[in-house]
Amino acid sequence: MPIRVSPISAFRDNYIWMIRENGSNEVSVVDPGDSEPVLSVLRKEGLSLSSILITHHHADHTGGVKTLLEHFPDVEIYGPRHGTFPIITAAVLDQDRLHVAGMDLRVIQVPGHTLDHIAYYCELSNSPAAGMLFCGDTLFAGGCGRIFEGTPTMMYNSLQKLATLPPAIMVYCAHEYTQANLRFALCVEPSNADVIERLRQVSEARNLEEPTVPSSLSMELRTNPFLRCHIHAVRKSVLESMAISPASSDIEIFAALRRWKDNFSG
Ligand SMILES: [Zn+2]
Repeated sequence: MPIRVSPISAFRDNYIWMIRENGSNEVSVVDPGDSEPVLSVLRKEGLSLSSILITHHHADHTGGVKTLLEHFPDVEIYGPRHGTFPIITAAVLDQDRLHVAGMDLRVIQVPGHTLDHIAYYCELSNSPAAGMLFCGDTLFAGGCGRIFEGTPTMMYNSLQKLATLPPAIMVYCAHEYTQANLRFALCVEPSNADVIERLRQVSEARNLEEPTVPSSLSMELRTNPFLRCHIHAVRKSVLESMAISPASSDIEIFAALRRWKDNFSG
């Protein structure tokens, strides 16, 4: 059954992903930080909300849930079992499998940005379409989320888990940060031709105010420095820019790369 996924813009740069099974007027949304833009799309398209997927507790991902629940009292709200967000009707754990909006989803625990962070992975193994990953604020197009609650090791391991999924899958992250992320990526790897070309395409899209997500995991593997800490050019650049030992492990390189990005204003 074909699935349609479309972005609903919220706040300044959030995307709430709306998932719709073709032929159905019931939809799911991922991380509704605000209810108004969701309700507006549902009204305009004559749709009804059957479920909500929460990746982590931050308000810009959950702030709309209460109001959506008032409009759709039967909505199922999936979210992390060990999280702090209280309005969950179906708490899930790592490797749980769910059937939502015509999709079979697997839960992947990805702590780091927050301790409760999970991602939802749709394999679509019996479909010609590539798989889909809804990863909130863990893996971004060209970057990754800040480490607020976890440790760099946790975040590194979470990103590595995602990096081993099939390269053809599409990555649906929750923010439009791609252009700034790629400017940093270019600073880390000035001679990576894939980064140069991607930044050109992304800048063009942003000039037209088009979304730059989803992206393919294979594109992330070629251009996202946070998935490339084992690559010589990335390591060399981090060692030159940050005061860390030349004997640093890939995790230490990752931690320094994240600190570098935290203070990057280019
Ligand atoms: Zn967040």
